[in-house]
Amino acid sequence: MISTTAIVIGAGHAGLAMSRRLSERSIDHMVIERGQVANSWRTQRWPSLRLLTPNWQTRLPGHDYAGDDPDGYMPAGEVADTLTEYARLVSAPVRTGLTVHALRAGPHGFQLQAGEDRLRARAVVVATGACTLPALPSAAGAVPPPVTTLTPLAYRDPGQLPDGGVLVVGASATGVQLAAEIHRSGRPVTLAAGEHVRLPRTYRGRDIFWWLQATGLLTERYDQIDDLTRARHLPSPQLTGTPQRATTDLNSLTAQGVRVTGRLGRITGGVAQFSGGLANVCALADLKMNRFLTRADQWASASGLDGDLPPPRRFRATRVDPRTPLELDLTSGEITTILWATGFRPDHSFIDIPAFDRTGRIRHDGGVVTTAPGLYLLGLPVLRTRASTYIQGAAPDTHTLAGHLHSFLDSGASARRRVPGSDQLGQAGSPRDNGTF
Ligand SMILES: Cc1cc2nc3c(=O)[nH]c(=O)nc-3n(C[C@H](O)[C@H](O)[C@H](O)COP(=O)(O)OP(=O)(O)OC[C@H]3O[C@@H](n4cnc5c(N)ncnc54)[C@H](O)[C@@H]3O)c2cc1C
Repeated sequence: MISTTAIVIGAGHAGLAMSRRLSERSIDHMVIERGQVANSWRTQRWPSLRLLTPNWQTRLPGHDYAGDDPDGYMPAGEVADTLTEYARLVSAPVRTGLTVHALRAGPHGFQLQAGEDRLRARAVVVATGACTLPALPSAAGAVPPPVTTLTPLAYRDPGQLPDGGVLVVGASATGVQLAAEIHRSGRPVTLAAGEHVRLPRTYRGRDIFWWLQATGLLTERYDQIDDLTRARHLPSPQLTGTPQRATTDLNSLTAQGVRVTGRLGRITGGVAQFSGGLANVCALADLKMNRFLTRADQWASASGLDGDLPPPRRFRATRVDPRTPLELDLTSGEITTILWATGFRPDHSFIDIPAFDRTGRIRHDGGVVTTAPGLYLLGLPVLRTRASTYIQGAAPDTHTLAGHLHSFLDSGASARRRVPGSDQLGQAGSPRDNGTF
């Protein structure tokens, strides 16, 4: 049995940031990683992926972006290299190639089974990623045999797809990026769009993430958000990180020749059925984008920045083709591939601790698993603020959670106190107008 004070599971950006925080506090720990450092970026991302957040926001505790392109968007391979270098810089004690198969409560904290090893620790930080498994709709089980299906975790480039039409299901960041890339390869692309978040790449001369940060939206705390469950399951914004800083939205995709349909409902008898509500979800996305741009304009005026920025503007409403098909026969040969860009979910199946709610998600209060003192979560969407969804959120999140963990160790098992705020999980959100996004 290997014994240590704290174990961090996962050597992505979140786990490495926590390692740095624990080292700062001289807390003896190890980081266990099933693959190599930055494994997700090396094995689960397609090569052409670039971050949708600008380089200046790719910062970690004790490490700011120092390259010559702060406004650029980092390719996935460079993210992996950056994290590998960060692990070296902070001397993270990573054990690679070791998968945690089981995490249980033990007499003096937690017990882990990792490969052949049994480990014991008083505190455990689960940083195994938010995007480890694909989130598939039930329709995925009804695809007729001639059609090839794959998820973004397995997608590499259009060359791996059979010839013929491609149905991309989901029009968030992943869906719009891959629809554009596959369309450029010459394959006809149909994009099924449900609820989505539309944002321009730049606004009044600044990157949209500059505005999201400046207006305070990214720093909104989890315990101040009206509908936290909805915020945590919000689709990623329709953004791509191209050197041209191009906006990728449904208008630009249809202009390129991508056919946009409504949300995929079910597949029955080999026929895919799409929602007739495309115009509604587009109108809602336009409304929410404009509402945010108004908030940005008000912030700029209040900050006395109007004179330094180009004037406010608004973007064309999303154009919806009235001839949008409501059905597609998947046995006709028109569609040879379906790409499920329907989101991701974490894999916490190795956690054998009664901390899950009835939907299978771990109950936590801003990353603190209150039913299992000493257990923490990291790297999940809107964990503590909206920025938690992104790399930049790891610095403040690990600052707070490492402090909580330290107090827990100091006070034994008495750290059952909550960090401020409540985290009751409710029903998943449905498309409706309830404030910004
Ligand atoms: C398509 C896509 C685009 C993204 N774009 C952006 C972006 O533009 N900007 C941005 O800031 N963020 C972006 N994100 C990333 C997002 O920030 C991270 O996915 C998320 O925050 C989680 O990071 P993490 O370090 O917690 O997890 P990961 O980076 O996934 O790291 C988790 C690590 O845990 C390991 N692991 C998992 N299970 C086990 C186990 N049982 N035992 C041992 N090790 C295990 C994995 O191998 C992995 O190395 C994107 C994500 C995706 C999927």
